[in-house]
Amino acid sequence: MLSKLLLGTRNSGKARELRKLLEGAPVELLTLDMVGITAEVEETAGSIAGNAALKAKTYAALSGLPTLADDSGLEVDALGGEPGVLSARYAGPDASDQERVRYLLSKLEGITWNKRGARFRSVIALAEPSGQVHLFEGTCEGVIALEPVGTDGFGYDPIFYIPALEKHMAELTLEEKNLISHRGRAARKVVAYLEGVPRSG
Ligand code: IMP
Repeated sequence: MLSKLLLGTRNSGKARELRKLLEGAPVELLTLDMVGITAEVEETAGSIAGNAALKAKTYAALSGLPTLADDSGLEVDALGGEPGVLSARYAGPDASDQERVRYLLSKLEGITWNKRGARFRSVIALAEPSGQVHLFEGTCEGVIALEPVGTDGFGYDPIFYIPALEKHMAELTLEEKNLISHRGRAARKVVAYLEGVPRSG
């Protein structure tokens, strides 16, 4: 029997990507809705890794199940690594993805192409109900575009240009994004870990 693993996210974009990335893993994925968890976890840690661990630990304690949670952010070189851990709240707590994209572009007005380097960073935390946490990290390098392009993905994807592919992240299919993305890189480490861990129940 496959061991159960709770996916500790309410972000539909992340959930879609993680489901696909974990397809080959020896686990049965459950959602927060499936286990009746309605609580939100406030992201109060000062780092991406800290928030990933906080979310995974909280949901693991509430559910009694091993739990995965992703925290991610966009680090822009010209902004000294901002928005980073504040990526979700960059344009205010209630802003939409589109407003965050516009806000970031306004911060980079006048910054030339060769100074618009950036990376996405994802940390996936795997928490056991005992409180033990394992962290898996992935990054993806790119350039902040001058205007949004593409309709796939979510968040900052329309302004994240990948020079090697000559495409913006939001122009990639789910499969193409997963192959090169920060979350894809982190998730493949999770799958390798899960494949190596003998589990029961
Ligand atoms: P959090 O990990 O839920 O705190 O989200 C961080 C912020 O980065 C949110 O605004 C997300 O929309 C954005 N974000 C996270 N992952 C991605 C991604 O893969 N592409 C684009 N934006 C992302």
